[in-house]
Amino acid sequence: MYCIKCGVELADSERVCPLCGTRVFHPDLPCGQGEPPYPPDEHPCHEEVSRIGVMFVVSVCMLLPAVISVLCDWRINGHITWSGFAVGGLVLLYILAALPMWFKQPDPVIFVPVDFAAIALFLLYVNYATGGHWYLSFALPVTGAAALLVCAMVTLLKYLPGAALYICGGALILSGGLAVLVEFLLNLTFGLHDTFLWSIYPLAVGVVLGAMLLVIAVSKPLRRSLHRKFFL
Ligand SMILES: [Zn+2]
Repeated sequence: MYCIKCGVELADSERVCPLCGTRVFHPDLPCGQGEPPYPPDEHPCHEEVSRIGVMFVVSVCMLLPAVISVLCDWRINGHITWSGFAVGGLVLLYILAALPMWFKQPDPVIFVPVDFAAIALFLLYVNYATGGHWYLSFALPVTGAAALLVCAMVTLLKYLPGAALYICGGALILSGGLAVLVEFLLNLTFGLHDTFLWSIYPLAVGVVLGAMLLVIAVSKPLRRSLHRKFFL
């Protein structure tokens, strides 16, 4: 018996191809019969243990500079000044990069909103610590709009993987719109200009690329010919 995808020779006992992971299919033979060609894997939790060990080391490595900077700041200034930003940045980095790795299969539908909430909280802290007046009129709406867009995209991609082209096309067009929102809020908050100067360019790029993806998604013959040309 041979793998229908990569052509490797398979034992009759295989249920999936050990090389490419494709499900073994034979129209006449029942699946997973016969003597296995190698002994069963006796260390299935090896990867699990090493992952948790690595995550523990990463956590300690990020905790250490946070503690040191707070101690230095406290000793020099008598209260928290610059170390708040350092600790906030480290916490943010930890939530964005390290937290999902604690889980075997991190679910983006859960972690993406958590990430955006962490970014919004960090920006709130920076705004508060620097005495800024830009959080409510700029940082929060921009973070919220980006969060809505990305959360909707990952949720739709997870539950409707067949519609990936439509989802990515729509997301590209909306991210062009997001650039316009950013410039509008920048002008509103900081009184920069009365008109839109730069956001038209990302909007144009987003609309053109997004429309291209939508056309490819709608037109089946076009999709098929691209598939054949680029092996996508
Ligand atoms: Zn294979």
